[in-house]
Amino acid sequence: MLENRPHCPKRAVLTGGMPYGNKDLHYGHVLGMFLYADFMARFLRDRIGKDNVIFVSGTDCYGSPALETYRKKCEEGYTGTISDMVEEFHERHVNDLNKFEISLNYFGASGVGDAVPFHNETSAEFFEKLYKYGYLKKMSTLQFYDEDKKTFLNGRQVLGKCPYEGCQSEKGYADECDLGHQYMPQELIDPISTLSGKKPVLKEITNWYFDMPRCLPLLTEWLDKMEKTELRPFVVKEIREFLKKPEIYIKKDQMDKFEDIRYLLPTFEMREEKSKASFVLVFDKLEDREYACEMLSNAGIRYRNGKTITPFRLSGNIEWGVKVPEKEGLKDLTFYCWPESLWAPISFTKTYLSKTGKQDTWKDWWCDKDSYIYQILGEDNMYFYGPVQHAMWLCTQGTHPSLDIPKGELQMSHLIVNKHSLFLGNKASSSGSVKPPKPDDLLKFYTVEQLRMHFLGLSVGNTSSSFMPKPFDPDAKPEDVDPVTKDGNLLTNVYNRVLRTLFYTWQAKFDGVVPVREVSEDIQKQATMTILKYEKLMFDNKFHMVMYELDNYIRGINKYWVANIKDCENDDEKLACLIADTLYMCKIAMVLLHPVSPSNIEKLKEDLVLSDDVFDWNRIDEPVYNFVQDKNCYRPKFIEPRYDFFAKHESQFENV
Ligand SMILES: [Zn+2]
Repeated sequence: MLENRPHCPKRAVLTGGMPYGNKDLHYGHVLGMFLYADFMARFLRDRIGKDNVIFVSGTDCYGSPALETYRKKCEEGYTGTISDMVEEFHERHVNDLNKFEISLNYFGASGVGDAVPFHNETSAEFFEKLYKYGYLKKMSTLQFYDEDKKTFLNGRQVLGKCPYEGCQSEKGYADECDLGHQYMPQELIDPISTLSGKKPVLKEITNWYFDMPRCLPLLTEWLDKMEKTELRPFVVKEIREFLKKPEIYIKKDQMDKFEDIRYLLPTFEMREEKSKASFVLVFDKLEDREYACEMLSNAGIRYRNGKTITPFRLSGNIEWGVKVPEKEGLKDLTFYCWPESLWAPISFTKTYLSKTGKQDTWKDWWCDKDSYIYQILGEDNMYFYGPVQHAMWLCTQGTHPSLDIPKGELQMSHLIVNKHSLFLGNKASSSGSVKPPKPDDLLKFYTVEQLRMHFLGLSVGNTSSSFMPKPFDPDAKPEDVDPVTKDGNLLTNVYNRVLRTLFYTWQAKFDGVVPVREVSEDIQKQATMTILKYEKLMFDNKFHMVMYELDNYIRGINKYWVANIKDCENDDEKLACLIADTLYMCKIAMVLLHPVSPSNIEKLKEDLVLSDDVFDWNRIDEPVYNFVQDKNCYRPKFIEPRYDFFAKHESQFENV
């Protein structure tokens, strides 16, 4: 038996972020995000049992982006309802995810289909709890209003420039930019209504806000704890920025003007660095900063706000959304799409469990230390899934939340944050200028296996890696090697070759029956080492390192065969032992590759005529013969010459 195994949960929930219900998936959603969740989910199913893993996600239906797309489509003659539109996108999401073998237990939709009642219920529960414990407050703010169209404008219906110091975003919406900075509408620079193309006015409205600033000490404690255990370093750095005290940046050339009104401001600390163009005012409380901003504006001083935790808006007046329970005379409000999409995975879990009548057991998955929650997301969303979600989860405990979370309360997540996937060196986003390919376009040139191998080999946890598929790259020269097919060669060339050799050898020398021999000690030791490394790297979420280990191991099988086959000439006993060793290594590789290239590996299992439990990690180091029907006459399928266990894409055949 294996020893010194890494700690592993009894149960696990995985989520892969939610694609918007107003657009098709591009390759980055599927291969840059869902793939990693799928890899982890498939590994865990083999490792802890498939009944102990739930992988859920769904289409994010509500909010102003969907409404905005719907408006444009109607202008172009679309006649369906907004639900129809979202459902059509949802169906296409499902198709694309299936094509890439993303093994979701349940992929729902927040606004259409059978998850709706569960999602409404979950949303109301969150609201009621946060309200009861005093974390919600009513705040009146200004909202953009289009006087031409006589309507309030939400989110994406307003475009301007993000007011955050140093922000690189091209798109500032009503109260957040596309890099996740949040601000007050009045701070947005040069707003324009997308409905009329004119500058909108600001009108006062009242909404529910989650009192995030109150959670600052707890969030800091949470981040310190996460930093020591598992969060990728760039994530810690970025989230720490959000947890800073409220700051104001002012250019140094306005120092004189500032000195004139300095006495009017609430208490602050001043920070000045020689090399920087601005000086910084640091406040203790957000209200103090807001007051200071007003004073600065009145004096005509230009400034920018630094990142900090601000009250998180929960509600809005978009009709297309989940109803907010009526309280204190505030009615006809719906949830803002971010908060409800944070708890949507819980709704999806309930929906999935309800199919077997077990919806009441959802807490075993989300509120129990024995269950791990893995959330795989892109770096743009870490503010929401990081500080916002965790503050909200913690506050549902009561008036004195603690990080030592009791059973029955929402547990903290393991956040696996991936860097942007760059397409040909540019940020891949459907709204950007360089259009990333859709999943179907890629399948014209690559197999699913090649793409999965390539993306799992990228180091997305450290750097933004660029996806450079040769057929899509205008700068690629004919003689260049396609970087995307390289990783897949491990299966189509190396592993395929050694498997063929094995089959042909027992077909030619042993009449198609595999000789049963003891596996050498060295080979077993080496396998054990590889298994342990693989497992540790999986739990550390270092997926590209897993692929590196696999590469080493599989190349090693080939080398072992080549180095020993010469000694076996005219010695069938030696040959039988070599077959036993090599087959054992191939079987280990097969189990380790199961989450990487699922359907081809399952086909290989059929060709080897092995039982399903060969993929069970509790028995991973057992000999092949324990998984065959008759050990004394173990006869795998007969294969023809040039049979491929792993094949290239047909478009690549002439290049072989
Ligand atoms: Zn920004």
